[in-house]
Amino acid sequence: MKHSAVISASGSHCTLVGAGPGDPELLTLKAVRAIARATVLLVDDLVNDAVLEHAKPDARIIHVGKRGGCASTSQAFIHKLMVQAVREGETVVRLKGGDPFIFGRGGEEVEHLREEGIEAEVINGITSGLAGLTSLGAPLTHRNRAHGVVFITGHAKPGDEGTDWVALSRTAYQAKLTLVIYMGVSSLHHIQTGLLQGLPTDTPVAIVQNASLPHQREALTTLGQLASTMTREGLKSPSIIVVGDVVQGVRAWETEMVVHRRAA
Ligand code: SAH
Repeated sequence: MKHSAVISASGSHCTLVGAGPGDPELLTLKAVRAIARATVLLVDDLVNDAVLEHAKPDARIIHVGKRGGCASTSQAFIHKLMVQAVREGETVVRLKGGDPFIFGRGGEEVEHLREEGIEAEVINGITSGLAGLTSLGAPLTHRNRAHGVVFITGHAKPGDEGTDWVALSRTAYQAKLTLVIYMGVSSLHHIQTGLLQGLPTDTPVAIVQNASLPHQREALTTLGQLASTMTREGLKSPSIIVVGDVVQGVRAWETEMVVHRRAA
């Protein structure tokens, strides 16, 4: 490969590590080893601090959280910090929530590192979209209920049109796909309205906030009642919204639905 010469000449590299959805027990062994080797760790805000217990006592830990709407470190500045630390000869770990390559801009970080001639290694983590429904004991695919899964963001880049929820709902219905929506909380009404164009009102939905953490909260509902359930239950970000028949696999599904129907 052409640029492998650049990589081996500089010898520098940075490791993007998936910290998983929150429960520190869900880290991979590879992630633990990378964290333990690091001299500098650049940490996103959805990363549970408990995973930092694996870091060397004298490692430099820099929190670079950037939650929507809050004061945050810009992406450009994070890029700069990573490159600078690598150039200073540090063993750099970029610790990201869930999996580094599922949203969260891991792809952009790798591209930037490569442009700077820095090799990027990526260690997968368990993405929150997977952990969400698993924590309720149901699978994302099932021979009778879903033939595939779509991981999709509810949050478009500023100036971007965003997802065509109407088109997606029709495809999901026809192809029997589970929809796993990340960052959907602030656009919930818009998402719900779009999805209802192609999916039945009674399509099962699970909302899981803080999946895999001790303060996890969840609600089971239907597509028709998605936004009202979210408001009633006071569920907030970070949440995963799972839409599709696989949600019927959650043990409490039948009982919860009876309660909701009575309440309605
Ligand atoms: N790379 C991450 C996703 C980053 S985008 C991953 O693979 O999980 C941030 C979004 O992820 C949040 O808005 C939320 O939708 C979701 N998220 C992250 N951690 C979560 C958790 N513990 N529980 C529920 N949703 C979570």
